[in-house]
Amino acid sequence: MADTATSEPPRDFIRDIVQADVDAGRVTGVVTRFPPEPNGFLHLGHAKSICLNFGVAREFGGKCHLRFDDTNPVKEEQAFIDAIQRDVKWLGFDWGDNLFHASDYFEQLYAWAEHLIEGGFAYVDDTPPEQMRAQRGTLTEPGQNSPFRYRSVEENQALFRDMRAGKFPNGARVLRAKIDMASGNMNLRDPVLYRILHATHPRTGDAWCIYPTYDFAHGQSDAIEGITHSVCTLEFEDHKPLYDWLIEHLPVPARPRQYEFARLNITYTVLSKRILTTLVRDGHVSGWDDPRMPTLAGIRRRGVPAAALREFVGRVGVARANSTVDVQMFDAAVRDTLNPSAPRRMAVLRPLKLIIENYPEGQTETLEAINHPDVPEQGTRPITFSRELYVEQDDFMENPPRKFYRLSPGKEVRLRYGYYVTCRSVEKDADGNVVALRCTYDPETKGGNAPPDGRKVQATLHWLSAADAVPAEIRLYSHLFNRPDPGADGDVMADLAPDSLEVLTGCFVEPALASAAVGEAVQFERTGYFCADPDGTAERPVFNRTVGLRDSYAKAKG
Ligand code: ATP
Ligand code: MG
Repeated sequence: MADTATSEPPRDFIRDIVQADVDAGRVTGVVTRFPPEPNGFLHLGHAKSICLNFGVAREFGGKCHLRFDDTNPVKEEQAFIDAIQRDVKWLGFDWGDNLFHASDYFEQLYAWAEHLIEGGFAYVDDTPPEQMRAQRGTLTEPGQNSPFRYRSVEENQALFRDMRAGKFPNGARVLRAKIDMASGNMNLRDPVLYRILHATHPRTGDAWCIYPTYDFAHGQSDAIEGITHSVCTLEFEDHKPLYDWLIEHLPVPARPRQYEFARLNITYTVLSKRILTTLVRDGHVSGWDDPRMPTLAGIRRRGVPAAALREFVGRVGVARANSTVDVQMFDAAVRDTLNPSAPRRMAVLRPLKLIIENYPEGQTETLEAINHPDVPEQGTRPITFSRELYVEQDDFMENPPRKFYRLSPGKEVRLRYGYYVTCRSVEKDADGNVVALRCTYDPETKGGNAPPDGRKVQATLHWLSAADAVPAEIRLYSHLFNRPDPGADGDVMADLAPDSLEVLTGCFVEPALASAAVGEAVQFERTGYFCADPDGTAERPVFNRTVGLRDSYAKAKG
């Protein structure tokens, strides 16, 4: 059931740390934060971080801040800021009054940079970028001190103020922390704290032409906001000594601690904003909300409810060891969430005409279809039966193998909520393709019930009445990448699957679906879970396949 994993509070090493801090009185009032950089849309990996940070705050009666890490105006946009807020809310979390931006702290961060300069802990470096990179050394060789490392405090102050005043072009100088060029940790080799960027910032406009780096902004922002547990992914573990060094060398109002957990990786899926940005920019997908994208916006458009995402994240859990989750686990969480509630409907994706010869021409009748087999409260809906119907091409074989129980000449099947029908003959076009099935029906099987003689059939098919079926477009999605580890050979774009979107245009859906609300999940009987796409209209709805009924992909790929 959908709720089992989320109904009892999860346990993991992060929650154990928080619990221990609370129990020991080290922390009163847990404060976490989710700190996205607004340079793209949120993806499944972010969902893990959001559920963890907001979840911990909720469970411990604390707060979780939403903080935009907006320190690189070259890549950041208001549209991303808006999308991120929309997506966090959609996922079911609320930051209340606690919406912050690293840019709110630019003035304070600047003052602290001056503080480091005064203490002899930071200097302005004029070394050109390539040379600076070369001087940084490698994992096995120490770096070299920059010749500018020995500047006086006064000179550094003057130059840093000139940097702020806009006297230098981009890249001409940086402010660096003076730590240790021989440190075994590359992050402590005089990391850059400020760079010159003549760029308009979405929030501060042209007020600044120098911007703090992630490393300088992040821990200090945590301190300003009184974050008690700064939870991030493992790649920041090597940054922690710098995080702590800055906190120790600055008159910050609090001493937050950083804890790292393993990032989410999923087979057949790329969770890197850089690569997702490339997919959008180069037109490999229709946008950030393309239903094949692992973004929250894409997943939502595909029809996945937020509850399914929370369920998936709960099942994955939080650990310290990096691992890759099978994408089938995501699909399973989606199915398990949708199955108990998604109304059942009928749709024919690849229609084949079925003509009932013994049903009077022009006659129709209304039958009753059950909306959900396990949820009687969902009630029933009327469906129309008539002489001309559509069934699925796949449900007919002219020369079937022995175990094919569906329609073939001479075979009787049940039409769900309709009648038993028997295929008598086929109509073909000039090329020999079957274009219609000529059948008879048994009037004593109304509603799909067995006839008085107790005759059984081995298959139940979905169908539509041709006269009132609504034409629809149906979009079938499969994985964007054709290997479980996209990019493992170096070029991730070479692993793009050419056929990840299949558009079916000649489809039909039952009239009840013409008014389906965008994003509302339905199950097309025997076919999968679908939802209406905003591209559709009432006359011509468009449906996205959210997920199939079971994992046919794994089977198809062996
Ligand atoms: P990407 O690696 O996709 O470019 P990012 O980490 O640079 O993303 P941010 O906006 O900085 O993107 O991320 C915000 C928060 O989300 C960070 O705390 C980061 O640790 C977390 N996060 C990002 N990707 C994942 C992931 N795959 N699994 C778990 N958490 C993630
Ligand atoms: Mg980041």
